[in-house]
Amino acid sequence: MRLLGVLGGMSWTSTEAYYRGLNEGVASRLGGLHSARVLVHSVDFGPVAEAQHAGDWDAAAGILGAAAAGLAAGGAQALLLATNTMHKVSGAVEAAAGLPLLHIADPTADALVADGRRRVGLLATRFTMEEDFYVARLRDRGLDVVVPGVGDRELVHQVIYDELVHDVVRAASREAYRAVLQRLADDGAEAVVLGCTEIGLLLHQGDTEVPLYDTTALHVAAGVDWLCDR
Ligand code: GLU
Repeated sequence: MRLLGVLGGMSWTSTEAYYRGLNEGVASRLGGLHSARVLVHSVDFGPVAEAQHAGDWDAAAGILGAAAAGLAAGGAQALLLATNTMHKVSGAVEAAAGLPLLHIADPTADALVADGRRRVGLLATRFTMEEDFYVARLRDRGLDVVVPGVGDRELVHQVIYDELVHDVVRAASREAYRAVLQRLADDGAEAVVLGCTEIGLLLHQGDTEVPLYDTTALHVAAGVDWLCDR
């Protein structure tokens, strides 16, 4: 089996889901005692989040680039960056490692396009919702992306950084997210992308009638495909 380098720790609560998902996916694909060949570098999220909020993306890219180069030196043959937000610097990370990167927006766009979705909502960090690096990649696939209004964007962002990355899951926050989902649907969204790798801890398809596309699950499936493509 190939060896996949996973850049995680952003946050650890979602990397835990990636590790489980990659192993469950490989086991169910290959059977027997098979499991995922992965090299995980789980960074200290503190300095990364500090750099994000200070707008110092070069510093964040430096931390991830060094970790990615270490994964390459350890024998990884491709990279999976286990966060949507840090795909803002995915080009620099890819270059630092000299390895191909399985971009999180690609399996997400593939699934939306395959299901014939056209107008889709996005729940994510403020960086992912408000900047172009992610939305443009979905738009390039012909998708019309709607983001929540400014107050809802703030709420979604705060729940991620104040609760989910600390492994805190609150029913009140689930209700607040459901209200945001409804407003996105009222704005014409046919489906909503959970464009932050922790949101799957809080929201599940059973919580809403709006079709959800969870980037963590879709990215994990892409990783499993890559690992099993021998
Ligand atoms: N895991 C989150 C994401 O998918 C947010 C944490 C981070 O900033 O990396 O965007």
